[in-house]
Amino acid sequence: MPPQKVCVVGSGNWGSAIAKIVGFNAEEKPELFDREVRMWVFEEKVNGRNLTEIINTDHENVKYLKGIKLPQKVVAVPDVLEAAKAADIFIFVLPHQFVRGICEKLKGNIKSTAVAVTLIKGFEVAEGGGIRLISDVIRSILNIPVAALMGANIANEVAQENYCEATIGCRDMALGQKLKAVFQTKYFRIVCVQDEITVEVCGALKNVVATAAGFTDGLGFGDNTKAAVIRLGLMEMIKFCEVFYPGSKLETFFESCGIADLITTCYGGRNRKVAEAFAKTGKPLLQLEKEMLDGQKLQGVPTAAEINYMLKAKKMEERFPLFTAVHKICLGELKVDKMLDCLRNHPEHM
Ligand code: NAD
Ligand code: 13P
Repeated sequence: MPPQKVCVVGSGNWGSAIAKIVGFNAEEKPELFDREVRMWVFEEKVNGRNLTEIINTDHENVKYLKGIKLPQKVVAVPDVLEAAKAADIFIFVLPHQFVRGICEKLKGNIKSTAVAVTLIKGFEVAEGGGIRLISDVIRSILNIPVAALMGANIANEVAQENYCEATIGCRDMALGQKLKAVFQTKYFRIVCVQDEITVEVCGALKNVVATAAGFTDGLGFGDNTKAAVIRLGLMEMIKFCEVFYPGSKLETFFESCGIADLITTCYGGRNRKVAEAFAKTGKPLLQLEKEMLDGQKLQGVPTAAEINYMLKAKKMEERFPLFTAVHKICLGELKVDKMLDCLRNHPEHM
C-alpha cells in the first residue's frame, strides 16, 4: 500500500495537540504515511495575521495551543476541500456543533476508499426524540468507515508529552490497528477495543459529569463530594449505555475512555473549570466560556441538553438525576446549590 495521506479536520486545542502527534508519526514512518499532514483550520485573524499563516510560518497554533511547536510538515489549510484532497485517513477533531456543516462540504469530494476516526465528544439531536452519535453523522454523510478515539487526554498535557493513554473503538480490528499506527507514540499509548459505540458514548457523557464536578467544586464541597459525583456519574454512564446501546461491554468503562477520562476531566478539564466559576460567580455559562476559554468551546453544556432531549422524550429523566440536574442548572431552571438535593435519592441509593 502506498504511504497514506492523513488529514486533520480541526485545529483547536485538541486538534493541534493531535496534529503534533500525527505529524511526528508521519515523519517517523514514511513507509506508512505521507510526510505532509494537512490540517484544516477555521480561518481567523490573530494579532492582524491569518492563523494559517502563523501556523505555517511559526509552526505554532498561538491561539489554541500556545507554546507548543508543531512539526514543519503539518500544513494549515483554510479551505477544507483543499485540506482533504487525496486524503486516505481523516481525523475529525472539532467542537461537535460544527461537524455536520464540515461533512456536508466534504460530501462527494473525498476518496471513496478513505477511512475516518472521530475524536469528537458530543451527540447530535435527531428528530423524534433521539440522539445520533457523531460517528454516525460522519458515516451517513461521507459513506466511509468511522472509528472513535477517546481517552484521558487533556490536550495541553498531551502536547507536553506527559505519558497518557487513549482507547480506539473500532469494530474492524484491522482498521483499528492501522489507526493505532497513526497515533501511538512513546508517551501516547493506545488500546484498541471493538466496543466502538461505548468508547464514543463515554467520551461524550463524561463532559456532563465534569460539569457537575465543577459545580460542587464551586460550591466549596470537598473531594468526598466530588468522588460521589464521579461515581454516580459513572453509574449513569453505564446505565445510559445499557438502556440505549444494548450490547455495550462493562469492561470498556475500565479503559482510558471510561473511568480514566472521567477522573482527569473532573479534576483538570475546561468543563470543570468553567462550571466552578459559574457556581462561584453566577455569571452565564456562555459568558464565562468566552471570558475564560478565548475561543475554545465547552462541550458539557450542549451535551447535557442533547441527552436531556432524549431522556425527556422517553420519560427517563428520573433515572438519570445527575445528567438531568446539570441540564436544568445550565438552563437556569434549577439553582446550582440545589444540585446535591437531586442526588440524595439517587436510584443507586434505593
Ligand atoms: P476547541 O475547544 O479548542 O475549539 C475551538 C475550535 O473551534 C477552533 O479550532 C476554532 O477555529 C473552531 N471553530 C470556531 N468556530 C467554528 C465554526 N463556526 N466552524 C468550525 N470550527 C469553528 O476544540 P478542541 O479542544 O480541539 O476540541 C475538539 C473536540 O475534541 C471536542 O469534541 C472536545 O470535546 C474533544 N476533546 C478535547 C480535548 C481537550 O483537552 N481540548 C481532549 C479530548 C477531546
Ligand atoms: P474538557 O473539554 O473538559 O477540557 O475535557 C478535555 C477532555 O476531553 C480530556 O480527555
